[in-house]
Amino acid sequence: EEVSNQIAAGEVVERPASVLKELVENSLDAGAGRIGVEVAAGGRRLIRVVDDGTGMLPDDLLLALERHATSKVARAEDLTHISSLGFRGEALPSIAAVSRMSLRSRTRDAEAGGLVGVEGGKVMAVEEVGCPVGTLVEVRDLFFNTPARRKFLKSQATESGHLAGALVRLALAQPQVAFRYTVGTQVTYDLPAGQDLASRAGSLLGRATAENMVRLEEEEGPLRLMGLAGLPSLSRTAADQIYTFVNGRFVRDKVLLHAIYQAYRGLMPDGRRPVVVLHITLDPALVDVNVHPAKTEVRFTQQQEVHQALAGALRRGLGR
Ligand code: ADP
Ligand code: MG
Repeated sequence: EEVSNQIAAGEVVERPASVLKELVENSLDAGAGRIGVEVAAGGRRLIRVVDDGTGMLPDDLLLALERHATSKVARAEDLTHISSLGFRGEALPSIAAVSRMSLRSRTRDAEAGGLVGVEGGKVMAVEEVGCPVGTLVEVRDLFFNTPARRKFLKSQATESGHLAGALVRLALAQPQVAFRYTVGTQVTYDLPAGQDLASRAGSLLGRATAENMVRLEEEEGPLRLMGLAGLPSLSRTAADQIYTFVNGRFVRDKVLLHAIYQAYRGLMPDGRRPVVVLHITLDPALVDVNVHPAKTEVRFTQQQEVHQALAGALRRGLGR
C-alpha cells in the first residue's frame, strides 16, 4: 500500500509546482473565493494553501486521503461530463505519501474543525481544532522519504520558477478569485477578487503587456472564446507566453497552438512568439480531459471546428 502510493505519487507529483497546482485546484473545486499560497525553499520545505471554500467534515478528511475516494465523480458516465478540475481522487493521497502533510478543515455548519497529520502516507488520528471555515493544507519536506525523487529536483531558483508559473496559470484561469502568493516572507502577488481577465492579466503580466493586447470575444455554436491577443509588437523572442484554458483548465494543446501560430503567421518577424491569453468554454461532453493526471493535454471531439473558430477570432481581433 505504502509503496504503491509512492509509485502513484510519481504520476501526479512530479515537483513542488505539481503540489501547488493540485492543492489550488482542490480549493477552486471547493468554491473558494480567496486562496492563499505560501512556499518556502522552492517548495521543498513548505507549500501551504489556505482557502475559504466549503471545507470538509472530520470524517471526510480521512476519506480524502484514501486513493480514488473523490467526492467529485459519482459514476463512470460522469467522466464524460467533468466540470470539476479534479476527478481522480489521487492528488491528496499521492502528495501525502511523499511528504509530511497536515489538513485542517471546517465546514460552515460544523462547530469545530478537524485536523489530520500524515507522514509519508501514515495517517494520524483526526483531532478537533478550532479553525475558520475552509481548508488549510500544509505540505512540508516534499520527497523526504524518496531520496531518488528528491535528487531529481532542480535548483531552488528553477523550482521557484515552476511554482510561480503554476500560480500564474491558475490565477489567469480564475480571474474572479482572489489570490495571495507569498514566497518566503515576500508577498509576490496580491490579486483582488472579482477581476476581469484584462485586469488580471495586467496584474500578472504587467500593465504594459495588457495594454498592448486586444480583446477577443466570440461565440460559435457550443463554443465560446474569450481572451486577449497580444499585438504583434508585443511578441517575444524567448519562450512564448501562450495561456490557453479550456473550461477553466490550463491546457497546452496542439490544435490550439497551431491555430494561434497560423493567425499570427507573417505578422511578426521570424522567430518571434505571440502573447495570448484565451479562455475556451464548451460543453464538457465535447472535450476529453481524462488523458493524463499531470499533463495539460485535452482531446476535442470537434478539433476542426475549434481550430477554425480560434484562428478566425484571432485574425479578426488582429485586424486581418
Ligand atoms: P480529486 O480532486 O480528484 O477529487 P484529491 O485527492 O485532490 O482528489 O482530493 C480528494 C477529495 O478531498 C476531494 O474529492 C474533496 O472532496 C476533498 N478536498 C480536497 N481538498 C479540498 C479543499 N481544499 N476543500 C474541500 N474539500 C477538499
Ligand atoms: Mg484534486
